[in-house]
Amino acid sequence: MKRIGVLTSGGDAPGMNAAVRAVVRKGIYHDLEVYGIYQGYHGLITGQIEKMEVGSVGDIIHRGGTILRSARCKEFKTKEGRQKGVEQLRKRGIEGLVVIGGDGSYRGAQALTELGFPCVGVPGTIDNDIPGTEFTIGFDTALNTVIDAVDKIRDTASSHERTFVVEVMGRNAGDLALWAGLSAGAETIVIPEDPVDMESIKSRLIKGHERGKKHSIIIVAEGVMGGNEFAQKLEEATNFDTRVSVLGHMQRGGSPTAVDRMLASRLGARAVELLIAGKGGRAVGIKRNQLVDYDLAEALALPHQLDLDIYRLSKELSI
Ligand code: ADP
Repeated sequence: MKRIGVLTSGGDAPGMNAAVRAVVRKGIYHDLEVYGIYQGYHGLITGQIEKMEVGSVGDIIHRGGTILRSARCKEFKTKEGRQKGVEQLRKRGIEGLVVIGGDGSYRGAQALTELGFPCVGVPGTIDNDIPGTEFTIGFDTALNTVIDAVDKIRDTASSHERTFVVEVMGRNAGDLALWAGLSAGAETIVIPEDPVDMESIKSRLIKGHERGKKHSIIIVAEGVMGGNEFAQKLEEATNFDTRVSVLGHMQRGGSPTAVDRMLASRLGARAVELLIAGKGGRAVGIKRNQLVDYDLAEALALPHQLDLDIYRLSKELSI
C-alpha cells in the first residue's frame, strides 16, 4: 500500500481532528502518501480530494469539529454512487480508506469494502453507540459539556426550588444521558433502553421533596422523547413547577478532552497499521483500555449494549 485516504462522515464529534492528524502523520511516518477527502462521502463522489502533508494537520489536535468537514450523502447509499467514489480513489492510486464516523458511515465503509475497496472504520460520534468498542471519539468531551451545563442548571434550579428537565443527545442510545446523569448527580435519568415509568419517576420526585430537596434534575435522552414533551407529561402527573433545557448542538462542539485526544490518536494510528497490513473491512475500538479491531460487517449486525451496571448504580445513588 502506497496511498491511503481519510474522511470524516455523518455527525461531527470533538476529537475527529485528532484522529485525522493521527492517520495523516502515522501514514507519512510509514512512507505512505495520505489524501484528505473533504465533505465525507459527498466529497468522495465529487472528487474533493487533496494530498495531505505533515503540516496540513498542524495545530488541529485541540480543535473541535473536523477540518475535512462532514456531510450526509444520499447518493452514496446507491451502488452507482459508491462506484463513482471508488473511481475517484482509483484514479489517484489510493488503495485504502480510513472512515471516521458513526454507524451510518460504517455502513458506507462496509459497502465500499464489498466493492473490493479496503476500508477501516474509526468510531467518531458523541453518541457512544457503536458496537465493538466501549468508547467512541467525542463521547468524553460531550459528556463533560453536558455535566458543565447541568452543574449550572443545578444552581438556578436550587435557587428557585424547581424541577428541571434536561434533554441530551445520543440518538437511540442512552449512554450520554446515563453517564452525564450519574456524573452530575441527576435525580432521574430517562433512557431509551428502559421504558418510561412516570409513576416511579413521580414517586421518586415526591420522596425527594419530602426529605427536603430543593430541586430535581431529570436528564432525558433525545431517543426517548423531546424534553418539552417529557416536561408536559411530568407536569400533568405531578403539578411540579418544571423548566426545560434542550442542550442541542453545543454538545457536538468544543475542544476535545485529553481522553478523546488520546483515544483519537491511538485509534487513528491503529487504523493505518491495519491498512498497511492489508486488513480492510475492519473497525478499530477500545476495550479495557486495549486497542481492538474487528470485522465491520459483524459489528454492524450487533446491537449497541448500554452498560446496565452503571444504570443500576445511577438508581442506587440517586435515592
Ligand atoms: P453517522 O455516521 O454519524 O451514523 P449517518 O447515519 O448520517 O451518520 O451516515 C453518514 C453517511 O454514511 C450517510 O450520509 C451516507 O452517505 C452513508 N451511509 C449511511 N448508511 C449507508 C448505507 N447503508 N450504505 C452506504 N452508505 C451509507
